[in-house]
Amino acid sequence: MMRPMRPIVIAGNWKMNGTPAQAGALAASIAAATAEASVRRVICPPYVALQAVAAALAGSGTEVGAQNVHAEASGAYTGEISASMLVGLASWCIVGHSERRRDQDETDELVGRKLLRCHEHGLRPILCVGETLAEREAGRAAKTVQGQLMGALGGLLSAAAEGGVDLLVIAYEPVWAIGTGRNASGQDAALMAGVVRETLDRLGLRERAADVPVLYGGSVTSAAIAEFLAEPSLDGALVGGASLKVEEMAGIVARAALTARARAGAGTSS
Ligand code: PEP
Repeated sequence: MMRPMRPIVIAGNWKMNGTPAQAGALAASIAAATAEASVRRVICPPYVALQAVAAALAGSGTEVGAQNVHAEASGAYTGEISASMLVGLASWCIVGHSERRRDQDETDELVGRKLLRCHEHGLRPILCVGETLAEREAGRAAKTVQGQLMGALGGLLSAAAEGGVDLLVIAYEPVWAIGTGRNASGQDAALMAGVVRETLDRLGLRERAADVPVLYGGSVTSAAIAEFLAEPSLDGALVGGASLKVEEMAGIVARAALTARARAGAGTSS
């Protein structure tokens, strides 16, 4: 049987930037500058801008993502947003971003419950994993990422029979590269994508591990993206700071479209 090609995905994480009106206008400009059907384009604005961004992107082919979701389905959680509330506003959701692991003390177990909420509501999760600088320098990058995946994916893997992992996307984001202007090398990121897929395999996904898209994230720009997309094991990028700039997103998506067309022509995902 032919394996499905993994999609090339460029997702922008706007973090805590922009009013709803600014977000809607920026989303419309980015969508107009990145109209490449071969690339899955996703914009993840703050919650309060989801409606404005969804309206601005309607019919453009660019999809909407949330930056987070609560681990419970509903209840007395003042200020929080559940997966069911996101349905109709967003079709993707970032889960376990390192800024939330750092600032909100999110554990792998909590991240795992968020993944299940996404699964229940058909949201496509982008699960973020990655090591700190101290962990990399201690030679523990692979172990850290393996531990994050094993700690977070248990629930989703038991739902595997009902398609629990069909929508899963993983972003390898070394913490030391996020917002710092420092990138991992393409080669290191590709090695870590290998660690991700080996871990999925060990967790029982076997050949389906090869179908899970793995993105790189960490100070990606239009100048840096080519190095990552040249690696066959990487399937795109989660972009922070540069995703707030129309020209940067235009350059990143244009480069991604070259890769998408080349891979479709060669019929490869590896
Ligand atoms: C991110 O927010 O996931 C990210 C990778 O940010 P930046 O591109 O700014 O490093």
